[in-house]
Amino acid sequence: MSDSFPSPIRGFLIDLDGVIYIDDDVIPGAAESIQYLKENHIPCRFLTNTTIQSLGNLYKKVQRLHLPIEKDEIISPPAAAVRYLRKQKNPSCHLVIMEETREDFAEFRETDDHPDYVVIGKIGDRWNYSLMNQLFSMLVEGASLIALHKDRCTMKKTGLHIEFGAFVAGLEYASGKQAYVVGKPSPAFFQSALDDMGLAPEEVVMIGDDILSDVSGAQNVGMRGFLVQTGKYNKDWAKSSSIQPDQIIPSIAEIPNLLEA
Ligand SMILES: [Mg+2]
Repeated sequence: MSDSFPSPIRGFLIDLDGVIYIDDDVIPGAAESIQYLKENHIPCRFLTNTTIQSLGNLYKKVQRLHLPIEKDEIISPPAAAVRYLRKQKNPSCHLVIMEETREDFAEFRETDDHPDYVVIGKIGDRWNYSLMNQLFSMLVEGASLIALHKDRCTMKKTGLHIEFGAFVAGLEYASGKQAYVVGKPSPAFFQSALDDMGLAPEEVVMIGDDILSDVSGAQNVGMRGFLVQTGKYNKDWAKSSSIQPDQIIPSIAEIPNLLEA
């Protein structure tokens, strides 16, 4: 946090899960806040860390929930990876991702034979030695590694489960190559949204319900991070955290008040 007078807010990055909706329930005031931004020509992008839904299906969901969000305003790890790949010279890819997210990468040539990039996302329990060895070979023979995120583990009803980030780390260790990691809280993920809006970090506020990946991730690139008290927000956790949100707001419905204050 800076003590200097903050820049006017010129744009927003907004988390989807827990801020705009919880499952299929829209947070009260979310649609109205987004509409307010549109009417006032304030750019916004919507960030999610999901790697199991294609951009097309995420867009279908926001349409089904009658949210005034355009497809190209949604930034998911697969979408960020696609934006990154578009900047390369006609790259070929080997995709290690769920069937559903494969369509996001349709514009790139897919190959098992000396791909330029190996792209890793969630594939459930399909991980095994021969797959790791195949990917390792591609990396040592010249491929670069892209990880849709690099989480170590995830909490499920049955307890903690290993995440694909552990396999990414294993491949980095064996090949000596560092993965390009997309997804929150990777600075590149926030930066790609800023680039897309053409705004500087100090002009933009990130609104999220996760103090670590949303608030801290945004603050690390020089943006302001606002925490909402919806979704996974937990009062005790927020209080005990070393991360200080720039503001804590009751919900996304506060947006008009933030701008008119
Ligand atoms: Mg969230």
